[in-house]
Amino acid sequence: MQKIFAANWKMYKTRAQASQGAGELASGLGQLPAGHEVVVFAPFTSISCVADAFNGKPVLSAGGQNCYPAEEGAFTGETSPAMLRDAGASWVLTGHSERRHIMGEDDALVARKTIFALEHGLNVLLCIGETLDEREAGKLNAVLEKQLSAVFSAMPGNLRGDALVGRLAVGYEPVWAIGTGKVAGPEEVLDAHAVTRALLQKLVGETANRLPILYGGSVKPNNAAGLMALDNVDGLLVGGASLEAKSFLQIIGA
Ligand code: PEP
Repeated sequence: MQKIFAANWKMYKTRAQASQGAGELASGLGQLPAGHEVVVFAPFTSISCVADAFNGKPVLSAGGQNCYPAEEGAFTGETSPAMLRDAGASWVLTGHSERRHIMGEDDALVARKTIFALEHGLNVLLCIGETLDEREAGKLNAVLEKQLSAVFSAMPGNLRGDALVGRLAVGYEPVWAIGTGKVAGPEEVLDAHAVTRALLQKLVGETANRLPILYGGSVKPNNAAGLMALDNVDGLLVGGASLEAKSFLQIIGA
């Protein structure tokens, strides 16, 4: 199974800071086992700085944090997958909870973005996750099913089965654990990842066993190893603790 360590730099870092941070990552990263990949999701303005700093290191990739599902056009403020690729990105995040809950993106738009980005040559880290209210109301499974089925029920035939392997990863991020310092407990992570795997199996069959599921939500150097040891945790999506190269490297090394 592919293992992915992803950094979400959110709306942080100037171009100079991004070049420096990505350079520190590139020089500090030791030999990774086969099948491991590190992706930095940078703000649009610094994707090219990250890609330049990573140039030549095949396990390091740059990604965008959002894209719009059109090739070009009158969509002020938006960026197409081709533009992201032109800047040096090979990945994009879709469905991050900050886009769902602050920018108001619904499941249908997340599905359109995910499919359009895949069709236009980007790999996608599709984020899903429940709010605290949804969890407390016993709706975890229903929320994850709704978010995943919106995407997979619209997936075109040429993006089914093996075509998704190596191109799509799912990030399970409980919204109440993002940026709050509250990491989900091992039982909660095990349960949510097992639910996610079972839902993927229902939606894409055997291919589901080859799609990495990342955990995200207040991952730090001191909890990374414990999270990675859990069943169905195939990587980590790290926000705050990825902003310093040193702590992100400790998370990868853990
Ligand atoms: C995120 O931005 O996806 C995230 C998980 O943030 P943090 O690690 O800061 O909780």
